[in-house]
Amino acid sequence: MRKVKYRAKRCPRCETKNDYSAYSCSECGLIFSRVENGSNKLAKEYILAGEKEYVVKAKQFPKDVSKRTFLLYCGFLGLFGAHNFYVGRYKKAVYMLICGLVAFVLTVIGSVIPNLDTIMSFISIPIGFDAIFWIFDFTEGCFNIYKIPVAVDFKEALK
Ligand SMILES: [Zn+2]
Repeated sequence: MRKVKYRAKRCPRCETKNDYSAYSCSECGLIFSRVENGSNKLAKEYILAGEKEYVVKAKQFPKDVSKRTFLLYCGFLGLFGAHNFYVGRYKKAVYMLICGLVAFVLTVIGSVIPNLDTIMSFISIPIGFDAIFWIFDFTEGCFNIYKIPVAVDFKEALK
C-alpha cells in the first residue's frame, strides 16, 4: 500500500506542524484564517511599541500589504532594505540600510580611499549577506512565501 503524504502546515505562532487542512493549531489554538485576515499596519505599530505578543509572521501577503509595492521597493531599493521597512521587519531593514549605504559610498568614492582592500576584507562578508538577503527576499516575494508580520487578535483567535 502506498502511503499518502499530506503537506503539513506550520503554525506561524508556535511552529507546531498541523494538518494541511487544519482549522486551528492543535498546540496553541490559533485560528489560521485570522492570520490571513491579520493586519500588517497594526503589526508595525506593535513592533515599534515593543509589544510583539500579538504579532506572528505570515508566509503570505496580508490584505493591507501590496505585493506590487513590495516588489518595487525590493527591486529598486532592496539593497538598502526599503521593502523591509515597508513590511515592518525593522531589524533586517536597518542591517540592510547600513550595509547598502556603506557599499554605495565605497562604490562612489572608493578610488580615493587609501587601503581600500584592507577595509573591504573586513566588510565584504556583511555586504555579501545584504546582497544575498536582497535576492532571496525578492524571490520569496515573487512566490508569496516571504514572511511578513501581521497582528492577530489572540483574544478572539484562541479557542
Ligand atoms: Zn500554534
